[in-house]
Amino acid sequence: MSVISLRDVTKTYPPRSRGAAVTAAVDNVSLDIEAGEIHGIIGYSGAGKSTLVRLINALERPTSGSVTVQDRDLTALPEKALRQERRGIGMIFQQFNLFESKTVWGNIEFPLKAAGVPASEHQRRISELLHFVGLVEQAHAYPEQLSGGQKQRVGIARALATNPSILLADEATSALDPETTRDVLRLLKRVNEDLGVTIVVITHEMEVIRQIAHRVSVMEKGRIVEQGDVFDVFAAPQAAATRQLTVGVVSAPPGEDELVSLRQRHPGRVVSFSFVDGGSAQAQIFVALSEAGLRFELVHGGIDEIRGRTFGTLTLAITGGDASIDSVLAQLADVATITEAH
Ligand code: ADP
Repeated sequence: MSVISLRDVTKTYPPRSRGAAVTAAVDNVSLDIEAGEIHGIIGYSGAGKSTLVRLINALERPTSGSVTVQDRDLTALPEKALRQERRGIGMIFQQFNLFESKTVWGNIEFPLKAAGVPASEHQRRISELLHFVGLVEQAHAYPEQLSGGQKQRVGIARALATNPSILLADEATSALDPETTRDVLRLLKRVNEDLGVTIVVITHEMEVIRQIAHRVSVMEKGRIVEQGDVFDVFAAPQAAATRQLTVGVVSAPPGEDELVSLRQRHPGRVVSFSFVDGGSAQAQIFVALSEAGLRFELVHGGIDEIRGRTFGTLTLAITGGDASIDSVLAQLADVATITEAH
């Protein structure tokens, strides 16, 4: 069941200067986010991610198309009703957006007050949230006394205070170092798994998607250029933008130029084997080559694991008789996708 559904959504802004073209920040996007999933939205700066977020939390109305959140068509609602809808959506931000003059406790209490939760319930709820995010001891600290990771934990506790069923994380780890990022992403995973909150993660970092998302939508120039299960998108990225974004995050098979350059630097035939879910693929490749009496050297490669499934590429320089090599490659055609440098 979708909790967020966009149908043919376009958002254009008036040109910034006279005579300039009208920009479609979001261009004819349709997107369904299922209840309970962690959905990543990735793209370079200017791709339209923030605009998409503002459409989902109804800070912007689409120029055309419809945005439905939890079965309510936001495009049809008046402003007052929209404010109510927004309470069902928690938000966390890159710069945390905490009140510097309030303690951790005060920051988390703020949305409870705004939502009219009786004061008698605040203590229990805030203390529950502080336990959940691991900040019991910092309850009376001010934001300036906290590390970046701790600030984002406060942000998460505050966003969860009124029990939203959706959490939008807008570049929520972009200001954090890799280790703190991992901690915060682990906490978001618990928010998803233990509390059943649907999470939309907006990021320009594919590593964040790799660590946390179930599905991903890749945006470029206002459009979704690729979408799918995170494993499938990483194992076989289709769009050029996706391939660029995965560079350095997972090991990609060498491109044609790289294969040719490897062939110039190594003796014999340079052959690349790519496999998915290939627990035994590596072993089968090595055994087949050895049994045929061929010599080989690993010249490029890597194996990655995403959500418990593996994929990888091994590029080998193989020496021996051409006929034996051809026969082994034919034998391995079911095990891996084979590309050879010519
Ligand atoms: P991202 O979050 O992926 O960096 P944005 O949604 O911020 O992308 O921007 C998408 C495009 O829309 C950009 O070209 C940006 O310049 C333009 N844009 C965003 N907001 C406005 C605005 N308020 N007025 C005019 N153009 C805008």
